[in-house]
Amino acid sequence: MRTTPANNMDVKRLNRSNTLRCLLTCDKISQPELAQKLKLSWPTVLQNVKELTALGLVQEVGAYESTGGRKAKAYAPVRDAKLAVGLDITQNHVGLVLVDLSGAILRYTRKKRVFSLQEEYLISLESLLTDFLEEGEGEKLLGIGVSLPGILDETGERLLYSHALNIYDVETKQFSQHLPYPCIFMNDANAAGFAELWKNPEAENLIYLSLSNTVGGAIINGGRLYTGNNLRAGEFGHVTLVPNGRKCYCGKVGCLDAYLSAKVLASYTDGNLAQFFERLRDQDQQAQAMWTEYLQYLAVAINNLCMSFDCDVIAGGYVGAFLEEFGGPLREMLAERNTFEHSGGYLKECSFKLEASAVGAALMQVERFLQPL
Ligand SMILES: [Zn+2]
Repeated sequence: MRTTPANNMDVKRLNRSNTLRCLLTCDKISQPELAQKLKLSWPTVLQNVKELTALGLVQEVGAYESTGGRKAKAYAPVRDAKLAVGLDITQNHVGLVLVDLSGAILRYTRKKRVFSLQEEYLISLESLLTDFLEEGEGEKLLGIGVSLPGILDETGERLLYSHALNIYDVETKQFSQHLPYPCIFMNDANAAGFAELWKNPEAENLIYLSLSNTVGGAIINGGRLYTGNNLRAGEFGHVTLVPNGRKCYCGKVGCLDAYLSAKVLASYTDGNLAQFFERLRDQDQQAQAMWTEYLQYLAVAINNLCMSFDCDVIAGGYVGAFLEEFGGPLREMLAERNTFEHSGGYLKECSFKLEASAVGAALMQVERFLQPL
């Protein structure tokens, strides 16, 4: 995330933070190379590296061969010096992911747990976490990022509403009361969008469309999440796709969600989406017809996003995970709809699949740690 320094102390911290960020992208690097990459003076870089080494975040790993003069020391990041957990709460599952400081996924699991606000469920979150963490990892944990399928207030202290979990205006500390680490709460689609932004740090503008059991999304503008006036930006699921169309779970009709939710496809296979795609692989005719119709609606939705925002669109979520294998016809449909050129090249594949929201929530903890201010 972009940060603008306000004074000298801030500049120092920003430089140190940037030094660590840069080191995290390298396996090893020399001080002169690091100075060159960061466009900072040697003494500044040396001071930063010393401080980061003292914090256990960087280590010296030998020296580079010299062509004359003193050998340059080689430095490497200690990526697992700090860890973060992402906890993705959905209607029927809890996903857990462990990431290191570079955002690499060290472990991921997804357990069936039917959501409820009952004490039994909330306590079970702690036991899931305890079972998930291995010895010594707890001490390195920065905290937990919790992804929730709903709209949160600006502070993340209240979940204002979640149709998916069927709860309204709930304090998020209810979720964290049994978790012995600092927690950050986040909307699930924003979390997934944030994970994709992490993978594409150069992306200034990006739209993330989440095609899971509900449809949502995230808008990245100028390298930041755009949240709107009421924190409801990116609720693409409730854009009207078909006037007077199918009933949406939100109570309105014709919403995009009613056509593009993963449930639409999974309805053919008793709620099992993977099985739907198995049928598609077996060239089951009804599955093929459903998929074609789905892609036609999806092409309209994605084209609308491209025309509205003029940037790359990433389609993720449960269905997005299958687009690499089955999304071939979609690009042609997008090219046909594109007003400006015959191309659907702006549609990008997602870097994360089922784990996207958990990863993004965990990365918020990492990002907070890497922030200089
Ligand atoms: Zn709706």
